[in-house]
Amino acid sequence: MMEINEICQNGEPLSLKTDGHLRIVFIGVGSAFAKRRRQSNILIIQGDHHVLVDCGTQGPLALNDLGLDVLAVRCYLPTHSHADHVGGFEEIALSNRYTPHAEGKPQMIILRDYQDLLWSKTLAGGAEFCEANQGRSLQITDFFEILRPNTDQVEGRKVWVYNHGPIEIIIMRTRHFPDSAVNVDESQWCCGVFINRKVWISGDTMFDYEYPTRFAKQAEAMFHDCQMFVGGVHASYHELMTLSPEIRKKMFLYHYNDNWDKPTTWVKESDPFTGIPEKDGFQGWARQQVAYDFK
Ligand SMILES: [Zn+2]
Repeated sequence: MMEINEICQNGEPLSLKTDGHLRIVFIGVGSAFAKRRRQSNILIIQGDHHVLVDCGTQGPLALNDLGLDVLAVRCYLPTHSHADHVGGFEEIALSNRYTPHAEGKPQMIILRDYQDLLWSKTLAGGAEFCEANQGRSLQITDFFEILRPNTDQVEGRKVWVYNHGPIEIIIMRTRHFPDSAVNVDESQWCCGVFINRKVWISGDTMFDYEYPTRFAKQAEAMFHDCQMFVGGVHASYHELMTLSPEIRKKMFLYHYNDNWDKPTTWVKESDPFTGIPEKDGFQGWARQQVAYDFK
């Protein structure tokens, strides 16, 4: 059973523990360039374990909104190299290595191939030569303890799995960019996550009818990337309307543009939907700074 609970009432910081149940908190629900609801980065908490899926350029601020510092988050899972997902990782790396009260290296769940890309194309520029005088350049392993998922299969497709304490994280490749990619093999690395075979989060992705459909059989709640227009590298509201009513009714939409709540700016009169997700058969817009609790 899923409950939606308010958090951080009375200004208390968010606890990174639960009584044993799974808790999902979107520290942001907006798109890459959103100014209203931060970017789509997601905390997964169960028992005394937690993982932050992505930490974009606004990620440290989004944590601060919940009374948390990046130093408090001890485990990360970056999904892909757009700055709204990994733009906060330099701060994570440097503050954990150079802040006097830091506990040491945080953990990072990441595949081998993507680890090399994230380091060489994104993080090395700001982190590699911080201690160049000491005889060697730094590596990603100087900043993070790497946790490596194993390959597995779900519904006949290759996935990767990491068990972080009680949290089972299934990592699924998505077709996000370039926009010309016709399948995941032609795409740059990007992934979604399926948590405890219960909560499915698409990750950034273009619309692939088969992708949510494949996981809908097992998922109790689904969260899908959504934008207000057709084209580019994300699924559009228009395309998501083609999913079956059974799937839409367990689906929340996230990664939305700042005009999500002004349907007159993006819904045409000829469109067969209202732009209000609850009226169009979805669960609704995913909410920032609430807990989705699974008991
Ligand atoms: Zn992206």
